[in-house]
Formats: sequence, C-alpha cells, structure tokens
Amino acid sequence: MRSVGAYDKKGDGRPKTEDRSAVPGHPSDIEVPESEILIQRTDIPYFQAIDPASRGAVAVKDPVCLYLEVSNECNLACKTCPITYAKVEEPAALSLEQVKYLVSQFPTVKRVVLHGVGEPLLNRELPKIIAWLKERGIYVLFNSNGTLITRRWREALIESGLDEIRLSLDAATPETFTRVRGRPLFDVIIKNIKGLMALKLERGSLTPLVSLWLTGLRETLSELPAFIRLAHSLGIDRVYLQRLVYWEGENEDQMARPDQSLFNSLREEEEEIIRSGEELARELGVSFEASGATSPTASLVRENPAQPWSACMRPWTLMYISARGSAFPCCIAPFSTKDLRSLSLGDAFTQDLAAIWNGERYQEFRRRLLGADPPECCKGCGACWSL
Ligand code: SF4
Ligand code: SF4
Repeated sequence: MRSVGAYDKKGDGRPKTEDRSAVPGHPSDIEVPESEILIQRTDIPYFQAIDPASRGAVAVKDPVCLYLEVSNECNLACKTCPITYAKVEEPAALSLEQVKYLVSQFPTVKRVVLHGVGEPLLNRELPKIIAWLKERGIYVLFNSNGTLITRRWREALIESGLDEIRLSLDAATPETFTRVRGRPLFDVIIKNIKGLMALKLERGSLTPLVSLWLTGLRETLSELPAFIRLAHSLGIDRVYLQRLVYWEGENEDQMARPDQSLFNSLREEEEEIIRSGEELARELGVSFEASGATSPTASLVRENPAQPWSACMRPWTLMYISARGSAFPCCIAPFSTKDLRSLSLGDAFTQDLAAIWNGERYQEFRRRLLGADPPECCKGCGACWSL
C-alpha cells in the first residue's frame, strides 16, 4: 500500500499539501473569449494524425504525441488506481535533461502529455520542463489531483505557459471524495482551484485551460449534476466523464472493478442521470464531454462488437514513456494491469526511440492489435472499457 503523506515527512522542500497563502475571491462567471476557443482547437492533431487504413505492423509516421510520466509517485491513494495497491516501478521522476533527450528525438511531436500513473506536481522541475516544451511550440497538458496547487505552483504553472490542466476530482462532496480518493483533501483542492482561477483572472491569462474530471463509477454517478454545478461555480467551463479502466484485483476496497463500470451496461436510471447532466451543462454553458473526444453517452457504448479494440490509433500516433524509461503503447494499458513489465515495448534510456517505435516488440504489438487475438491489455478496450 502506498504510504500517503510520505513527502510531507521528508521535509525536502517539495510542495506540501496545505496551502497557507491567501486565496482571493473566486470568479464564478468567466466568459470564455473567442481566443481561448482557438487555443483549444490546437489540441486536435493526435486524433487525426494518420489514416486508419495505413495502420500496419510498421508505423509509417513518427508519433505526434508523447506521454511522459514525469513522476510515478502520488500523495493520494485512490481506490481506482493500481499504484494504491502495488508498487509498479521503482519511484522516479523525469528530469528536464531526460525530457530534452526524449523529445528531441521526434521533431514530429506536437503534443506532450506530462502525466502517467503518478502526480506530476511531485516533480519540482515541472515548470522548467513545460517552459522548454513551450519554446518548441508544443501543446502541453497534464492531469493532476489538484492537492498541491499552492500559490507558488499556480504562479509557476501560469508563467511556464502550460496550455491545459485537467483536474481529477471524482466527487462533488468531501465524503465521496475521501471514499474514492483515499484522503480527506476535497476542501484543499477546491481552495486550490479557486486560487488558480482567481490568479488567471488577475494576470489576464487564458492559460492553462482548466477542466474538471469525474471517473464514471456506478457508485458515484448520482453526483454528476452536483459535479457540473460545482465546476460552474468555480468558473470552470469544461467537465469530462472519464471511463473507468479496471483490472482483476483481490483488494476488498478496490473500486476499479467490473461491477463499477458503466461501459456497455448502462442502466436506464444511469442513462437518465447522464442525459440530465448533459442538459444541465447546456443550461449552464458548461461543455460536458467524455475522454477520447466523444460524448458521455457514446463513450459508454461498444462500437465494433467483433473486434472492439480495432479502432485504436494510439500505437501509431503516440508513445508513453514511464518515469523509469519503459515505453508503453498508451496511457490506458498501465491502468489495466499490475504487471507493467509485461507491457514494456522497449527502454527509452538505453535505446533510441525510433528503434523502439518500429522495433520488433512494437511491430508484434501492432500486428496483434489489428487481429483477432490482441495483446492482453487491449482485450478489454472497447469491450469492457471504451477506447
Ligand atoms: S489515480 Fe491519480 S491521484 Fe489517484 S492515486 Fe493514482 S496517480 Fe494518484
Ligand atoms: S490498451 Fe486500448 S488504448 Fe491502449 S493500445 Fe491497447 S487498444 Fe489501444
């Protein structure tokens, strides 16, 4: 079990969870200027980078997107996360030098996602990493649990030029938050979000774009309307429903399990909750979407029953590199198993990325993904959870 609060004990200067800075009044009615909508549109190329018909064992183009796991440690203990239950790789953080080394190998990269399984703000070099990527004209975003966004971090993130931050809150109330995410930090996060929104306004900064994310759990879906209202009251105009990726586990309190998944098993009353969420979002002027650039309802319905995984484009468009240098096919695979080693397609610290990208293991992975017997991590994609 991950030891929560380990960072606080070290006294090593890393950000602490408690924010003692003054928090200015928060905006509840921020109009989204046209220019901000344009910024959002730059986040498109990853989904359209290649023609689906061109997919074969060899990738004809280099990736346009890199997922870099800047930290593989976390200060929360979510009941939906593999690292709560088992150490998957030795603790590590990517340095600025390592990021430069990796990104420089693919001039094609247009988008870098600075998260994996872990909390990115535990990496103190993050602002420098973002600033370096922005100098190269790359769209930069990451998910965060929001617990560490102190005044200092808010300033650093805005000044770094970060394009987008996605806050995984997973609940509309402190009680549910603690149940799902393992620590009673709901109020701390809300305070941090208010501070970030206020500082953006104070600085006249359109970035980072801020969105709020709710993992679609059967047990907590009823909080969806309250979640959308909460986002609106915080001045956040984007809410996402995150599909649940689960794995076979023996832990009693684990919530990432088949009976919690809504995918392909939506009950009538759950469809109604999502429909009313969509309506409420429209009324409030909040955009409500699902992960994977689709609508919340569509994200929970299977598309190709024979080979549901076959719609996946990720192994041809992006590469995921863990804090330990392991290359993985996507950001979903690490959440589908505790056996991360079995997913590794190469070692980015000892091999060139191009050699990994079209190396034997990647080719074999792609070949199987296009066939009837996909790699183990992909079997659930589009079948048990959505792509
Ligand atoms: S889901 Fe995210 S916030 Fe929760 S324990 Fe995992 S890495 Fe941390
Ligand atoms: S696990 Fe899913 S998203 Fe990842 S490569 Fe396989 S099919 Fe694609």
